[in-house]
Amino acid sequence: MPGLLPENQRLFATQVVRELRDAGFEAYWAGGCVRDHLLGRRPKDYDVATSARPEQVRSVFGRRRTLAIGAAFGVITVLGPPRAGQIEIATFRADLDYSDGRHPDGVTFCNAEEDALRRDFTINGMFYDPIDERVIDYVDGQKDLQRGILRAIGSPQERFTEDKLRMLRAVRFTSTFGFQMDKETLAAVRRMAEQITIVSVERIAAEMRRMLTERGLVVAVWLLLETGLAKVILPEIVCEERPERIERTLSLLKRFDKPSFALALAALLREFVDARGAAGVCSRWKLSCSDSSRVEWLIGCGDVLRDAAEMPWSKLQSYMVDDGIEELLALAEAVAAEAGESIDFVEFCREKLRLPDEVLHPTPLLTGDDLIEHGLTPGPIFKRLLARTWQAQLDGEIETKQAALAIVDRMLQTELE
Ligand code: ATP
Ligand code: MG
Repeated sequence: MPGLLPENQRLFATQVVRELRDAGFEAYWAGGCVRDHLLGRRPKDYDVATSARPEQVRSVFGRRRTLAIGAAFGVITVLGPPRAGQIEIATFRADLDYSDGRHPDGVTFCNAEEDALRRDFTINGMFYDPIDERVIDYVDGQKDLQRGILRAIGSPQERFTEDKLRMLRAVRFTSTFGFQMDKETLAAVRRMAEQITIVSVERIAAEMRRMLTERGLVVAVWLLLETGLAKVILPEIVCEERPERIERTLSLLKRFDKPSFALALAALLREFVDARGAAGVCSRWKLSCSDSSRVEWLIGCGDVLRDAAEMPWSKLQSYMVDDGIEELLALAEAVAAEAGESIDFVEFCREKLRLPDEVLHPTPLLTGDDLIEHGLTPGPIFKRLLARTWQAQLDGEIETKQAALAIVDRMLQTELE
């Protein structure tokens, strides 16, 4: 499916507001897309808030163009024209009680102002009228956006009591936008950090992914430590008796600009845990296999590339052909630079990576089928034989299948003796 076009998304979001307006309802862009629009950032997606009830929204846009999956919460999804995505249209609503510390027990419909007040932070609490190009701001969001302040709407303590996930969102928005957290909001996160355990690990991991793959990752980690959230969600990096470790780590993280999640996590953890410890964090957060194995591999490799120039090619090649090589190089380069050591090995490796494919990824001279044809019965020894001949091939000791089979015969001979 072709990707979304930001211009199509924006036009569609404006069109949706116009159609609701023409049908006699109040309608605005709402929340994160307003914030992004005012910051001059491209919104990922657009949300529309309206006075129309879900069934009225469906009759304006027609059943065929709408999905009612979120109707119980007042949300109708409208499907857009090609490459314009879809838009969630939510009826102005207020949340009922939050008895589980995470989700409202239900919603009631209300006016725009009350809808603004249920939102988490002032910068996320604004509406925008894309037709008259007018901001509707009941929460002083514009002032905070201009001054770069992340502030809870209303009482921070109450807002975090309702939904603990907001504490992590506070850290993420503050760090990602390069803002300051308002003093009372910060104090409330500090007081309530231990309660973050109410939030599912999947949501915690999703927030961690978003904050660590953005530019403000150093501030994010610093805030997690500073607020006490780290003590609960990532105790591995809390090591009060060795403050130099975290200082080195923060300094290392400064060297990355929007790293992959696996790279960021490996850089964050490497001072504190070994590959097994990293695997523990990944499994606690239920990360995907590919993320977990990448993080484990990056930490397990340690400083290995530093000696690339002295390494037999058969050893170096196995790193060079790994899918994670770019992340490994980036990590090794940052670690070496941080320690004031030479980073010549990076260029050495890059040169290897530019080798033609048949040198970097040669076809093995010998395969299991060749061994069978040679009269051997498949078994555990195959792995050793093939590893040895592969190594000899990469290191240039042999160039033909015959030579490879000669090695096999010699190995079998010694085995028998
Ligand atoms: P981004 O999409 O970049 O994460 P966003 O602000 O758009 O940022 P969403 O999760 O898409 O975040 O939510 C859209 C809007 O819904 C927010 O801007 C905010 O107004 C409101 N909102 C989202 N999550 C919460 C929450 N946990 N508590 C209160 N309001 C929320
Ligand atoms: Mg959003």
